[in-house]
Amino acid sequence: MKLEYEELLKDVGKMSPKPNMLDYGDIYQNFDWKEIEGQLKSLDDGKANMAYECIDKHLETELKDKLAFIWEGLDGAIEKYTFARFSEETNKFANLLKKHGIKKGDRVFVFLERVPELYVVFFGVLKIGAIIGPLFSAFGPEAVKDRLEDSGAKLLITSPNLKRKVKSILHELPDLHHLVIVNKRGGPVEYEDKDICYEKEMAEASTSFEIEPTNREDYSVMHYTSGTTGKPKGVVHAHQAIIGQYATAKYALDLKEDDIYWCTADPGWVTGTSYGMFGPWSNGVTQILYEGGFNASKWYQIIQDYKVTAWYTAPTAIRMLMKAGDELPGQYDLSRLRHICSVGEPLNPEAVVWGEKAMGLAFHDNWWQTETGAIMIANYAIQNIRPGSMGRPFPGIQADILDDQYNPVPAGEEGQLALKPGWPSMFRTYWNREDYYNSRFKNDWYITGDKAYKDEDGYFWFVGRADDVINTAGHLVGPFEVESVLIQHPAVAEAGVIGKPDPIVMEVVKAFVSLKEGYVQSEQLRREIRVFVKKKLAGWACPREIDFLDSLPKTRSGKIMRRLLKSRDLGLPDGDISTLED
Ligand code: AMP
Repeated sequence: MKLEYEELLKDVGKMSPKPNMLDYGDIYQNFDWKEIEGQLKSLDDGKANMAYECIDKHLETELKDKLAFIWEGLDGAIEKYTFARFSEETNKFANLLKKHGIKKGDRVFVFLERVPELYVVFFGVLKIGAIIGPLFSAFGPEAVKDRLEDSGAKLLITSPNLKRKVKSILHELPDLHHLVIVNKRGGPVEYEDKDICYEKEMAEASTSFEIEPTNREDYSVMHYTSGTTGKPKGVVHAHQAIIGQYATAKYALDLKEDDIYWCTADPGWVTGTSYGMFGPWSNGVTQILYEGGFNASKWYQIIQDYKVTAWYTAPTAIRMLMKAGDELPGQYDLSRLRHICSVGEPLNPEAVVWGEKAMGLAFHDNWWQTETGAIMIANYAIQNIRPGSMGRPFPGIQADILDDQYNPVPAGEEGQLALKPGWPSMFRTYWNREDYYNSRFKNDWYITGDKAYKDEDGYFWFVGRADDVINTAGHLVGPFEVESVLIQHPAVAEAGVIGKPDPIVMEVVKAFVSLKEGYVQSEQLRREIRVFVKKKLAGWACPREIDFLDSLPKTRSGKIMRRLLKSRDLGLPDGDISTLED
């Protein structure tokens, strides 16, 4: 299936000078992580640190005065950070943390809008050897509380606005000793006892800091992710994850030092850290950081104005660009783009083909998840894309499809997508849930929770989730989390939540509720319930549709049968209903 390089150039007019990976088969056969480690600087024990690999190592080279990032704010403000400035600012924040008693292993969370300070505090935390947990700024109080409580976070970095949003839960967190308030927009702020003024203390902090000795296995980053049952779980990564992120940014995203790279993912999600921070910066690549969310014209303008060459985005965004029209991209100069990639949900073949039509480039889909820490399966720059396929395993990664007994099945057969454990960026645990972590490994395989199949040439094709987790616009939503909030509403007796297929965002959250005595269903009540969930959790978790039912289908042991709610909603056969209560 491999194409010669020249042949590929003919296919895709604006191919980069030379892809970093020139021969997939050869590299896959002979790959050794040790060679990648040799390209990194700090992996000896007591020296491995992601912040060093991303920032400080560049101070020893000509990249010192290169731009690490150009940031554009919602109000059009622009800020530029060289690696040297980035190092000084992160040193200052590490000193601030030290002054306030933060130590190696402590959990520190950041709940900020996408401003430069988010990146400064993130790496400051890594420099001190503490564990950083990023929180998406759209989270409501319930979502923030779940995560801070579960992790026993000691310090939270936030803004005056976001603090106001979650004020109601802050007194319920006994482990939380301090809040650092970043007042980027400079409005009036009332500081309370626990609060530290970022601007004041950063102005006083020293620009020198000796990075805390951390080793490869010391914990570094923690992302919460949703499962079928229970509250979100803290996926914990170690400093050596940088090996995988560095390698995949180089060989799967094909990043080169002279790229201008834009990753549209928010750092609240793993794509926004693994490939909005670690992958590109460990490769010395300049990034564009944009504070705002999706807007078709603005996005094209960013690509044009900053001369973006490499772009990493998501299927929902691509489908929204398609919806915005084929004429729009033609109004901008997108000619610098040379490589474009996508992740997070299935990328439909039409979207791949549209990329070729609108930008002269095909989107390269790749697959991975929070737990894997880095890209596992990808379409590579050197290969022909198979539209609709996630691609082939990254060198050093063994992926396969397993049956119910966790044994590999032949090509073409559907099964569970699994990976052989042991790659460097593999998660180390779920915080405080070792049993659950262990349950993800069967027969010497890590079970991903996705269903897929592999074709004769070793390309993987996504089929669906093996569980009830909902993927809406790339955000994983656990039905249990939404149900727990729904039943807190005074009118709701029972709730069941499913993902309903949607042509743009893949799935929308749909809820079925039965009401308590004395409450009557109405449009007004439906709206009220939706706002209730949105405020407590986040906009994307808020049910787009709510159906009122007299009662919900349950098993004899009282478990709501989401599967049945879904099949009935979609007009599909009920399947096995032997466990349904009378
Ligand atoms: P997260 O842990 O939030 O990054 O979500 C990971 C999940 O998103 C995977 O387990 C898949 O269900 C889905 N996903 C990620 N990338 C892809 C892709 N390229 N195609 C299909 N599904 C994907």
